[in-house]
Amino acid sequence: MKRNAPSIIETKRDFGTEEQCLTYLEKMRWPEGVRCVKCNHDKVSKFTVKESKRTKKYISKVTGQEKERKIRSRTLYQCLKPECGHQFSATANTIFTDSHLPLSTWFQAIALMCNAKKGISALQMQRDLGVSYRTAWYLNHRIRKSMEDGGPGLLTGVVEADETYIGGAYDKRRKRGPYDKQPVFGAIQRKQGENTSKVRSFPIPTNSKTVLTAAVKNTISPKADLFITDEGRGYISLGKTYRHETVNHIKLEYVRKGDPRSIHTNSIENFWSLFNRGIVSSFHKVSIKHLRRYLDEFTFRFNNRKAQDLFALVVMNLVIGTALRYAELTANPEPPSEPSGDERPHFDLPLI
Ligand SMILES: [Zn+2]
Repeated sequence: MKRNAPSIIETKRDFGTEEQCLTYLEKMRWPEGVRCVKCNHDKVSKFTVKESKRTKKYISKVTGQEKERKIRSRTLYQCLKPECGHQFSATANTIFTDSHLPLSTWFQAIALMCNAKKGISALQMQRDLGVSYRTAWYLNHRIRKSMEDGGPGLLTGVVEADETYIGGAYDKRRKRGPYDKQPVFGAIQRKQGENTSKVRSFPIPTNSKTVLTAAVKNTISPKADLFITDEGRGYISLGKTYRHETVNHIKLEYVRKGDPRSIHTNSIENFWSLFNRGIVSSFHKVSIKHLRRYLDEFTFRFNNRKAQDLFALVVMNLVIGTALRYAELTANPEPPSEPSGDERPHFDLPLI
């Protein structure tokens, strides 16, 4: 199998020390040479501060309690512009500075998440990295956040759209059961020449016609060659805007033969089944609050499955991305405490 992220063994070899990680970050942030993060001056000096015997007190952002940590050996830069003289590290103003975790732990966690095709739970990450559950949970969510699909562009070409319901098996043929379940909208742009297919997916408040119509219009270009859905009533009026074809699942008309563009919604349904398998095998249950991020993680991995270096893409997103504060994640009643056996205590939706 071709990898687009380093294996855990390669990660340990290539990013086992703080120094290796910093060198990687430096090259990524400043491919044309380090610049001052304060004044953008291009002349900076680089120096190393040795590990101090003293410890530094700090207030934990997680628990709010005072803690102590060793001041590790670190490489710093100093701006050479006389009126600036700012000192900074390769992690300055990035998500990495907020945490006191070694960069090697971050990098291992990123490699784990890039390689986990079906996603990875915080509990599994705790076991793989040998960190506390809290730390694993925090890494898991922050990295997932960095996997948000930034591309706001509308889908074009041949596009399939469909909804799924998270939290219970919805039987389309028997029209049973989307109650108490979270509807999720998804659309996939089919492969176009060299470009692999691309997905957009997000939770929607209801599966009403108004909501679905808005979801479609926000996701798919009216110039799309073809727009395919099932015969759900929610999509009925979209024929005015799109070249709309429908698939009648009740008549088992999944693929209309003879049309070179195959009228089916199998691509988006395959994506749903991949996502559903991920939830069952890795997360057991997903809270509504975090559903969007889980979807983003899946979408990101799916859309970048052919990327040469998925790992670099994630590190880059973490470097440039907005920091997601731990407080933001835990603002609602879902504090991560040590789970017993599995992660069920933290999630509030039933198993699929
Ligand atoms: Zn400067």
